Amino acid sequence: MNYSSEYDIIVVGAGPGGSMAAKTAAENGSKVLLIERKKEIGAPVRCGEGIGLESLKGIDIEIPEKSYSFQIGGAKLVSPDIQNDIVVKTDQTKGYVLDRKVFDKDLAIQAGRAGAEIMVKSQVIELLKNENKIIGIKVETDDGIKEINSKIVIAMDGAESTIARMAGLNTTSDLYNSDTGYEYEMVNVSCDDLIEIYFSKEYAPRGYLWIFPKSKDVANVGVGVGGKEAPYAKEYLDKWINGPMKERFKNAQPVAIKGGLIPVGASREQLVADGFMVAGTAAHQVDPIHGGGIALAMKAGVLAGKIAAQAIKDNDYSKERLMEFQTKWNETEEKKLKKRLKLRKALEMLNDEDLNVVISSLDDEDIEKLLEGNFPPVVTKVLSKRPQLLKAIGGLIK
Ligand SMILES: Cc1cc2nc3c(=O)[nH]c(=O)nc-3n(C[C@H](O)[C@H](O)[C@H](O)COP(=O)(O)OP(=O)(O)OC[C@H]3O[C@@H](n4cnc5c(N)ncnc54)[C@H](O)[C@@H]3O)c2cc1C
Repeated sequence: MNYSSEYDIIVVGAGPGGSMAAKTAAENGSKVLLIERKKEIGAPVRCGEGIGLESLKGIDIEIPEKSYSFQIGGAKLVSPDIQNDIVVKTDQTKGYVLDRKVFDKDLAIQAGRAGAEIMVKSQVIELLKNENKIIGIKVETDDGIKEINSKIVIAMDGAESTIARMAGLNTTSDLYNSDTGYEYEMVNVSCDDLIEIYFSKEYAPRGYLWIFPKSKDVANVGVGVGGKEAPYAKEYLDKWINGPMKERFKNAQPVAIKGGLIPVGASREQLVADGFMVAGTAAHQVDPIHGGGIALAMKAGVLAGKIAAQAIKDNDYSKERLMEFQTKWNETEEKKLKKRLKLRKALEMLNDEDLNVVISSLDDEDIEKLLEGNFPPVVTKVLSKRPQLLKAIGGLIK
């Protein structure tokens, strides 16, 4: 393949966010290079693959049938004692369990069709700088190490991002706001068209367990645990599968193991520098409650791609110009993420007994209100059943 030695915009990472950034920037007239370190975009998968239709609103993209495994009609939230559940079937909970191998590659194909050039099996190992300005990347490919110049680099290199740190941004992460996900894709698990979420401090401290159906008898079965419990994610999942869920999984067999990091502390504060932007999960643009980051990465990619392409037209790639990305993100999505971070922190203070009472006293309309960020009526209802939770969740009313 022949690549140029200079581009307007280089996007690092061809996850859903990077492909959307590359596609958007190319559609808006920029000369774009999208670089992915894996030899096949989309594989291996490290994701539960669930995505809500509501979360895709505002993103100008069609999801072809081949990109999803199963259509989801709603969500089931199950109490720690597995005695009670709430089934929510609203626009907020309808969606897909994707086939990310196909989905991610299809988004990259769409970026290519829009005019972006794509490099696979190529790892960005360094940023090129002129004083403090980012002026390109150094990339390791099968043909050797190359230096490629660009006016703007957009880092969309996922949860284990290294590129933003190279750009001099503050990328310190605390253990408390990092979840580790561990998941089996399993056959012989009977499923309805519902994603199932199980709360349990015993089996998923500071997190939850999930069953996301990929067909009537195949599902992603996983756990996300937070903070210092992270190294034990597999043990928690195995204990749950072989313990309280033994009957459900008695014939289940794994066909894949998937896992990885999920930052759940809301977005990083610094998203731009001279000639540089960081977006998607690399920027921690992930839902702090459920750890979903696919749709948010796509939204961030579109916004970053649009602003970068306009900056190219304006011939201004300064930090001040690119700050539009950070400001717009903070005014829109980040407001919601901060609210959901507050809810996550309140939920963390509940023990399994509290959660049993909470789930047995709420209904689907209450969950819809919570998902919309309308906490006061739900908190009031919970407190009428369990007043001792005032200290833990009373702050959500303010
Ligand atoms: C176990 C688990 C379950 C999850 N379940 C869900 C779920 O059900 N729903 C949901 O919405 N989200 C889920 N997530 C989160 C979701 O996977 C991410 O938020 C999403 O993939 C983020 O997209 P992205 O484009 O920002 O980054 P990624 O999809 O991570 O893509 C980043 C890309 O950058 C590439 N890359 C990294 N470094 C370099 C480099 N130096 N040079 C070149 N390429 C590089 C990587 O190979 C990768 O392809 C889950 C995560 C985990 C770990």
